Amino acid sequence: MDKSRRRFLAQSAGAICAGVASATGTAQAAFLREPRELPPNAVGMLYDSTLCIGCRACVAACREANGTTPEQPEKLADWNPGIWDTAEDLSGNTLNVIRVYMDGTKENKDQEANGYAFVKRHCLHCMDPSCVSVCPVSAMRKDPDTGIVTHDPDACIGCRYCVYGCPFSVPQYQFDNPFGQIAKCQFCNHLQAKGEIPACCDVCPTGASLFGRVDALQAEAERRLAAKPGETYVFPRGLLGGDAPSHEATIPEYQPHVYGVTEGGGTQIRYLSGVPHEKLGLPKLEQHSFAQVSEGIQHTLYKGMIAPLALLGGLVVFARRSTRGHKDDEE
Ligand code: SF4
Ligand code: SF4
Ligand code: SF4
Repeated sequence: MDKSRRRFLAQSAGAICAGVASATGTAQAAFLREPRELPPNAVGMLYDSTLCIGCRACVAACREANGTTPEQPEKLADWNPGIWDTAEDLSGNTLNVIRVYMDGTKENKDQEANGYAFVKRHCLHCMDPSCVSVCPVSAMRKDPDTGIVTHDPDACIGCRYCVYGCPFSVPQYQFDNPFGQIAKCQFCNHLQAKGEIPACCDVCPTGASLFGRVDALQAEAERRLAAKPGETYVFPRGLLGGDAPSHEATIPEYQPHVYGVTEGGGTQIRYLSGVPHEKLGLPKLEQHSFAQVSEGIQHTLYKGMIAPLALLGGLVVFARRSTRGHKDDEE
């Protein structure tokens, strides 16, 4: 095959692929259902990775508040057995974990090159949660007032659709338990019901995990982004606007984006970081949620069934009339 023919074929294939991709994007956009807004009294958390010192007090407090037990991965089983909690990721018994990003010499905190940074992993309490959308028995629910996403073990049938549907790989199934259940952070709703704040925010010594109304937390995050690096700043602790002692520190070099404002339709847990968010394991997501696509397609199909049904009904009437005509002729 000569070069010009090969180039022609390559260009044609490229044009076809681009056309298909753009048609797929357009078709997907045409199916999207309306995005979800923040509920009226949405509560959430601002996790500022630059304030986190990796002490894991939040992991211990989460265990105490939720009755889970310390975990050790098999490779560390001989290392101070039963003393150190060395959970590496979420599991059926771990609802909150601190993970570490490391690069090169690991000397510089919150820097991408030769640096390290912490990230706290738990449910992000999505504004439009796919775990709720895929659950066939409404065991996953989003509170219409506070937006907290909870799991009801009594309603759950163990299908694990939520495990596969969550874009952040949060819900975990207790495979080691014959009566296994789904486990995920419920935002300490049992403590919030008593007027308390989530245990991880209450215990955090630096204010890296800060609890509050989502709109106020977002304004706080934007204030930090607007301040000059090196400037002294008063960082609140515990509850934003509460009376826990705050602490002064300097503003770091932040990534210029609050993660969770738009990702996957938005989340009620928001993140600030010194290293790119994806380096912390926070995935790059489209602005729409998975639920907007799947429910949009479903609704369109159901709506689309009306026309074929009307046509089918018309055909049945027409066929019956024609048959009656033949019968009349025979008589
Ligand atoms: S992070 Fe996952 S489990 Fe949590 S609300 Fe979003 S979809 Fe559901
Ligand atoms: S909100 Fe409660 S359940 Fe969720 S991570 Fe914090 S302490 Fe754990
Ligand atoms: S308690 Fe606060 S500072 Fe300590 S690991 Fe948890 S989020 Fe980080």
